[in-house]
Amino acid sequence: MSYPISPAWWPLLALASPILVPWALLTDRQFRADRARAAELNRQRLGRATPLDLPALEFLELSVLVEWKTRPGFARDAGVSYLVRTNLGSMLYDVGFGPTHPALTRNAAKLGVRLDQVDALTISHLHLDHMGGLEAQRARRVTVPDELVPPDRKPCFLPDTAEAKGFTAERVDTPRLLAAGVASTGPLARSLFLFGLTEEQALVARLKDRGLVVLTGCGHPTIAVVLDMVKRLSDEPLYAVGGGLHFPVTSSRLSRAGIELQMLIGTGKPPWQRITDDDLSHAIATINRAGARKAYLSGHDTCDHSLERMSQELDAETTVLEAGATYRL
Ligand SMILES: [Zn+2]
Ligand SMILES: [Zn+2]
Repeated sequence: MSYPISPAWWPLLALASPILVPWALLTDRQFRADRARAAELNRQRLGRATPLDLPALEFLELSVLVEWKTRPGFARDAGVSYLVRTNLGSMLYDVGFGPTHPALTRNAAKLGVRLDQVDALTISHLHLDHMGGLEAQRARRVTVPDELVPPDRKPCFLPDTAEAKGFTAERVDTPRLLAAGVASTGPLARSLFLFGLTEEQALVARLKDRGLVVLTGCGHPTIAVVLDMVKRLSDEPLYAVGGGLHFPVTSSRLSRAGIELQMLIGTGKPPWQRITDDDLSHAIATINRAGARKAYLSGHDTCDHSLERMSQELDAETTVLEAGATYRL
């Protein structure tokens, strides 16, 4: 079990406390205000949501371009990029760290994936590990490696206001069909201590004779809120959940100089509170109650301890997603 901040830093933190404490109190006030705002936004969105006319798909295939776990020969990264192919088309969901890390370009080439064959790009949320790196997040501009940008300005569906270099940016405000017969839950909000109010959209698709497939990016709004929305969009049974759920309980995939970044960022708690096994138990119970039959887990934001617990305790048949693999759902 790692400390979110290594004890080596503690004397320095103590020294900096005259600055850190007032900053933390101020940020905490904003964080709490955003938490109330996010809850109210989600309540309104859930209240307004009406069923979507989801086409019954013959098949849905998920090819993993970027993930923490990999097939031999593929580059690993603490980011997400999934290619979703259905009988109605294809869509790329997230672009990992984009051009700033080698994984996306290298793995896409190895898998023979070209974005000019894809109908659209969808970004789950505006975080560096999903929209193309730190500079992309700072500038709110989705950034894809130049060699992957298709020549004909495809749509890029966004959960919040941002640009998308080489794409036609389109903000998704409510649940709707996007492309390839796949829909968005519309943005769902969560207050994050360091990143502020964060909007994230999950993908929803309906597989003929099976039921609904739900794919998250980091799962910041919490899987409970995502599945509440999905229930309002279709009364088909839940077949599969997949993607990131953000459970760095014992360690983080991103750590710098003894700082376990994912344990501090994106948990929905202030940095002095850890994400716990109890939190994970709630998420597991939620997925079990929803009756998912398959779970495709992401290791990009979830530690091995949490992946192991989910594999043991979920009623669903679980698979940990690997870059380089294609899953036919
Ligand atoms: Zn995130
Ligand atoms: Zn993430």
